[in-house]
Amino acid sequence: MKSREKLVIGKTRIDPGQVLDIRLKISETYTGDPIAMALRVVRAAKPGPTLFICAAIHGNEISGTGIVHELMFQKTLQLTKGTVILIPVVNIFGFETNQRNLPDRRDLNRFFPGNLKGSLASRIAAIFTREIVRKCDYGIDLHSAAQQRTNYPNVRGDFSLPAVKKIARAFGSELLVPNKGPMGSLRRSACRARCFTINVEAGAPSKMAPSVIEFGVQGVENVLIELGMLKGSPSKPLYQVQLEKTTWVRAQVGGILRFHILPGDLVESGQALATNYGILGKEQNILRSPVNGLVLGMATMPTVKPGEPVCHLGIPTTPLAKIRKSLKKPPLSSLHRKIRRQLASDISFVGR
Ligand SMILES: [Zn+2]
Repeated sequence: MKSREKLVIGKTRIDPGQVLDIRLKISETYTGDPIAMALRVVRAAKPGPTLFICAAIHGNEISGTGIVHELMFQKTLQLTKGTVILIPVVNIFGFETNQRNLPDRRDLNRFFPGNLKGSLASRIAAIFTREIVRKCDYGIDLHSAAQQRTNYPNVRGDFSLPAVKKIARAFGSELLVPNKGPMGSLRRSACRARCFTINVEAGAPSKMAPSVIEFGVQGVENVLIELGMLKGSPSKPLYQVQLEKTTWVRAQVGGILRFHILPGDLVESGQALATNYGILGKEQNILRSPVNGLVLGMATMPTVKPGEPVCHLGIPTTPLAKIRKSLKKPPLSSLHRKIRRQLASDISFVGR
């Protein structure tokens, strides 16, 4: 465990029992002024694991910022041991302009572990690696879908690493996606540095949807309970399955889609996903599911060109019938229903 008595981030020392807000310089503006990443460090008096929770490494994926915020102002994390580092925004540049990438168009999440003498992206990644990753045992990296898409909440990670699998399962998402992450991604690089990190993907970009925030806050608390850092009993999902494969269904022709499915739906092979209409209303084709699976992600933009992604399907290792059984009559107030309702509001859905 990397937890130690002495924790210094930037030039600030944080002692056991302290809660400190820190501004860590990560870059500079054209005017030469510092650009700093805001973070809060919460340390219990008792030693234990150190975990970071970060958001908006893709600057427009702000649901994670909402999750970190909620953790900050709804309640103080009453840790029984260890340290939590809360980072509401990593990519300050992208956050300011509601863009995924940095001003040089680089995707920050492809430049880890970074290099202090490299590009803008590489330098920011290197500072994050040195100051955060190397001081943490675990990490939770919060994301949402890319522009014009939405994701049904899921947790991704390299499940061949038992520590990753442990916190991924504990988070309490219905869907687990085994995936090391692309080269240069924070989660992949952090795991190599033995900071066991998962990705949480939930909802649409440029939004802080209340149900997604509730899901994220609950998940973080579940992980802290699992690690013995927080008292309480974890919230369990209605079901939890691992996906063995995911696949995109793409538009065959240009047109306007009317959807027959919603995020989180279970779909049978051959089931209609969307009907593609020409601009004068003529039906052009029906896109059908090639597999028995789950709707993991969808386009929220109903206009498509040939080859554009329409629906991201996941194939669970558990038979659909078994999942259906667990989903029989979830209470109206359940988080499952709230998320389903909320994500559905972004889709031009015309019935199944
Ligand atoms: Zn992202």
